[in-house]
Amino acid sequence: MVIASPHARADVHLDAIAHNTALFAAATNAAVMAVVKADGFGHGAVPVARAALAAGASWLGVTTCAEALHLRAGGITAPILSWLHSPLEDYGAALRSTVDLSVSSREHLRAVAVSAARQGITAEVHLKADTGLHRGGARPEEWRKLVRLARDLETTRHVRVRAVWSHLVSATDPAATRLQVQLFDDAVEIAQDAGLRPELRHLANSAAALGAPRTHYELVRPGIGLYGVEPDPRHAFGLRGAMTLRARLILVKRVPAGSGVSYDHDYVTDRDTTLALVPLGYADGVPWAAARHAEVSIGGRRYPVAGRIAMDQFVVDAGDDNPRVGDEVIVFGPGDDGEPTVADWASWANTVPHEVITGIGPRVARHHVHAHTHQSDEYEESLRV
Ligand SMILES: *Cc1c(COP(=O)(O)O)cnc(C)c1O
Repeated sequence: MVIASPHARADVHLDAIAHNTALFAAATNAAVMAVVKADGFGHGAVPVARAALAAGASWLGVTTCAEALHLRAGGITAPILSWLHSPLEDYGAALRSTVDLSVSSREHLRAVAVSAARQGITAEVHLKADTGLHRGGARPEEWRKLVRLARDLETTRHVRVRAVWSHLVSATDPAATRLQVQLFDDAVEIAQDAGLRPELRHLANSAAALGAPRTHYELVRPGIGLYGVEPDPRHAFGLRGAMTLRARLILVKRVPAGSGVSYDHDYVTDRDTTLALVPLGYADGVPWAAARHAEVSIGGRRYPVAGRIAMDQFVVDAGDDNPRVGDEVIVFGPGDDGEPTVADWASWANTVPHEVITGIGPRVARHHVHAHTHQSDEYEESLRV
């Protein structure tokens, strides 16, 4: 059971999701698959999917069949691709709900065909080629056998190959991407020579969807960019941050110079100062590793985090300013008002923005808002201390 904190919440700006989706759609002639895995990167898969579909996406991408079924249970009828399975699972429920399945090996394809035959329906599969990531996907030797088996199974009508696809290694290395495009084209040609007629080819993630047009084919698969994190730190494409993590101060106190703060006194005040307590910690996804560099925004001003981030709380050094109990703290947001962003926290914690954004914990209630500045009364009410 999840028990939400009364002191903190994450606003999810669906207008930002829409803006970012439209930006991806405008950057390509291909169709857009909104990647809403891991509960929409922590933003809420169903509301994000709806916002993205309304703004120009036509496909949804998820990892497990359970994630796909969650979208169907939420009333979403758009095409969905699920891409992370074991050949040992039963695909019946996903196939009955018209979820397309990625397949990486013959063992996996046979399992999908068995499930489809049992249901008396046709499985729509996306055959995945390993073009260099060496994670999922079939290697060249296996690929030839996989496409031949797929062609044989198509004659049984329990399998149809809708797509051939792969995944890129690097967001920032054009030479690596060029090589993968070439290997991908080879894989498509081998599939066609085997008699397959895939209607879709897809390869691009967020970075490639914005920066590498030759990877677009018929479909692009943006994830992180939909949530407003620039996929290539060297370029600003105009994406807008979709989540604001906020809390209310629950305690403010004055301490003398020389006061050690938080566990093991990593931080010692160098003057008399005011400390403010924020009721969020690493159990809520505020990265422990970021403490020495991190800042938050209170009343439009940045203040440093003082000492270690604990499981449930951290301390801010407000100097000689006078924050009050109940004042709002922005941990991260789109950055419009000078507050830190997800990318800032990722660099402070020496990790990727994906880990920060998907790490926001279950105590933080997600509040979906349609306009950037909108705050509901319910929100104000819920944060009153
Ligand atoms: C997560 C994922 C994406 C989205 O990648 P981003 O870099 O977040 O845009 C696309 N395709 C696959 C297979 C993924 O797992």
